[in-house]
Amino acid sequence: MARNATNFQTTIGDTVRVDGIGVHSGERVTLALHPADPDSGITFLRTGLSDGRDAEISAEWKNVGATDLCTMVGDPRGASVATIEHLMAALRGLGIDNVVVEVDGGEVPVMDGSSEAFVEAIDQVGLVRQAARRRMIKILKPIRVENGSAWAELRPYEGSRYEVTIDFANPVIGRQSIGVDLTPDVFRRQISRARTFGFVSDLEKLLPMGLCRGSSLENSVAIKDDRILNPEGLRWVDEFVRHKLLDAIGDLALSGAPFQGLYRSYKGGHKLNFLTLKALFADPTAWALVEAASRPATPAAELGTAMVAPAFRAEVA
Ligand SMILES: [Zn+2]
Repeated sequence: MARNATNFQTTIGDTVRVDGIGVHSGERVTLALHPADPDSGITFLRTGLSDGRDAEISAEWKNVGATDLCTMVGDPRGASVATIEHLMAALRGLGIDNVVVEVDGGEVPVMDGSSEAFVEAIDQVGLVRQAARRRMIKILKPIRVENGSAWAELRPYEGSRYEVTIDFANPVIGRQSIGVDLTPDVFRRQISRARTFGFVSDLEKLLPMGLCRGSSLENSVAIKDDRILNPEGLRWVDEFVRHKLLDAIGDLALSGAPFQGLYRSYKGGHKLNFLTLKALFADPTAWALVEAASRPATPAAELGTAMVAPAFRAEVA
């Protein structure tokens, strides 16, 4: 890709809609992606609330309300949108900085359990380069979080790289590793079609809790003992780790800007990814906001421990 193509922020060319069901509620939901202004980031617009209001929820780690089975963002008044990670992965994977995501239910539709439908929708309207320069979060020193044998870390690195390893006792999955330097082309070809997966034994516990009601072989790879139940089989032999990579890209997109750094995880997941962002932003010496041309913009220390939207806007207004 031409150097200047990635130095500027992007949005989508027009509004595009995606219909599907929520994996937990099983209910129909419509998603509309709208073009958005430079420096506005990714914002969820939750409509259809019982109190009649529409809620704007910025797609940022500070608004994350739950990470148990998926990643959910919410506002203090109780509005929320769950299962955002596969859409967030598509937006980050394709290099989209600014979008309003209007959703009329409490979940982003699961589609086929991957990012493919979102990539296809975005391709219908294309990307538009905006006048403002892209900002990136440059990792200045290693950050690491651990939970038992699982860990995740961010390290300084010239590009934007992800290295993910999973290790399941189940023989169908076993130990799998993948490493990529993230570009839109790599995301499309190697990551975007990797589906979510689950064990039938877990599903039997979750269904009585009102979760996974929309789950089916249409939107996840189901594993029972040492067998895959989906008649079509896998899209890659290592589809599982590719999906964990997809999830990590989506979860880390809640930083509010692309990374210049290396993300690594072992047995990672939504919660560990969230804790990684929390640890990063708790240490203002661990990162800096830089313009895509690598010139330092605003040192993190001057922004405090959180990235504040007005601080972004002041620089480019
Ligand atoms: Zn996922």
